[in-house]
Amino acid sequence: MQKKISIIGSGFSALAASCYLAKAGNKVTIYEKNETIGGRARQLKKEGFTFDIGPTWYWMPDVFERFFGDFEKHPSDYYQLIKLNPAYQVYFAKNDSITIEDTLQKICIAFEKEEKGSSKKLKKFIAKAQSNYNIAIKDLVYRPGVSPLELVTPATMKKIGQFFSTISKDVRKEFSNPRLVSILEFPVLFLGAKASNTPSFYSFMNYADFGLGTFHPKNGMYSVILAIKNLAEELGVTIKTNQNIEKIITENKVAVGIIANGETILSDIVLSGADYHHTETLLEKQDRQYSETYWNKKIFAPSSLLFYVGFNKKIKNVEHHTLFFDVDFEAHAKSIYNNPEWPEDPLFYASFPSKTDTNAAPDGKEAGIFLIPLAPGLIDIPEIREEYFEKIMSRFEKITKQNVKEFVIFKESFCVNDFIEQYNSYKGNAYGLANTLFQTAFLRPKLKSRKVKGLYFTGQLSVPGPGVPPSLISGKLVAQLIEKNIFKTTINDK
Ligand SMILES: Cc1cc2nc3c(=O)[nH]c(=O)nc-3n(C[C@H](O)[C@H](O)[C@H](O)COP(=O)(O)OP(=O)(O)OC[C@H]3O[C@@H](n4cnc5c(N)ncnc54)[C@H](O)[C@@H]3O)c2cc1C
Repeated sequence: MQKKISIIGSGFSALAASCYLAKAGNKVTIYEKNETIGGRARQLKKEGFTFDIGPTWYWMPDVFERFFGDFEKHPSDYYQLIKLNPAYQVYFAKNDSITIEDTLQKICIAFEKEEKGSSKKLKKFIAKAQSNYNIAIKDLVYRPGVSPLELVTPATMKKIGQFFSTISKDVRKEFSNPRLVSILEFPVLFLGAKASNTPSFYSFMNYADFGLGTFHPKNGMYSVILAIKNLAEELGVTIKTNQNIEKIITENKVAVGIIANGETILSDIVLSGADYHHTETLLEKQDRQYSETYWNKKIFAPSSLLFYVGFNKKIKNVEHHTLFFDVDFEAHAKSIYNNPEWPEDPLFYASFPSKTDTNAAPDGKEAGIFLIPLAPGLIDIPEIREEYFEKIMSRFEKITKQNVKEFVIFKESFCVNDFIEQYNSYKGNAYGLANTLFQTAFLRPKLKSRKVKGLYFTGQLSVPGPGVPPSLISGKLVAQLIEKNIFKTTINDK
């Protein structure tokens, strides 16, 4: 039976869910508070430059294939995918960097140069990571996090030990070169936690990195948002922007609608793709499942200070994705997870999409995105942003051996306050709730409200977790739960 479903937000998870729910025959409308769709994956266009505001790494292409495949489509029906070679470059000091190319074989050669005998260990490590990928990303993450039993399969039982060790321990057991260690610990940062706090089983991220590679969708990640928007509209979804949801209306513990810009919209089902904590504040206190204390105790993924810079020349000695690991990783990590404060010497990441994509910047110019991971909830004022821009630009100039400051045409910044103001993000987190052992699967905030019937949640604070591929999966999982419940209710009504 067709249901009227109102979806709050238009990030990856909400857009994905809308496609599945519309395909199942429901009347689906998305309400987005901002002027443009895409949530954290929106786009900034300025003076002929184009920047992805949020995600820039396209990993796990099979997840995107599977998503579009569910609608008898392919990513290539909507956007062109370019495999990056090199995938990225990591700087450790001036004249000192390692380049990660596009095949495991080439990466093995780079490893062997750094540490004799490391390529053999790397092959073994990645084979294990691949086996974890096949279990986790092809199967486990497609389970809705309803029960702990979902994680108990013959395949996971064989790997139980990997839930009680960490990536950090595993990597350090095999590799002693600190540069190789930091490269192998890098991928799990996408899950929002340090490698020393991430179970070994999550080495599937290393397979995503070295085994599958890094891709760039032509015109940026935003072209994936536009692709799913087009698919959603083909399936009959209505998308409305500038619609701030102020309240979720409930009657006797049943969600009956939402209030958007003062207007009541009655609905059979309400699904929120906005940050989970914020969504619960749209409910009366007695209808919320999780207290402020609960949220405060959770390990959140970092926030970020970002700069989007238009340069009046091409930038040398950098790749499309370039990491600056030239300072102490541990000290920076402590300032994120142990004693939240602005890091003294931050690691940072830089992306130059115009190295690959001519549409990202005018001829002869370069688009640069700079990201410093930060603890959520830090004081965010223009003077601090400026200080950190200076800091990283000076290091950037020294390490890459060129002047860039005088070639800045413009820079835009984005930090804690913007995450809060633009996305209603809890403490200004960028990537949601970290995926640690105790914040995995059934231990994460639930997709279905325990307190309000007909109310559902999706996105990076829920199941399965942070990142674009998990957000697509989250949309599918919640749509399946909704359909299951519609079916049950219809049978019971008969
Ligand atoms: C800087 C940055 C870099 C990242 N890099 C990568 C990367 O390289 N690769 C990768 O895979 N992932 C990356 N991620 C993570 C990835 O972008 C996210 O996991 C994903 O986009 C989250 O999608 P979502 O559906 O959970 O929610 P969001 O994108 O947060 O969408 C939520 C939406 O809800 C809307 N909303 C909130 N409150 C209301 C309200 N009251 N009424 C109406 N609408 C509301 C918001 O405006 C927003 O549009 C990055 C994230 C950030 C921030």
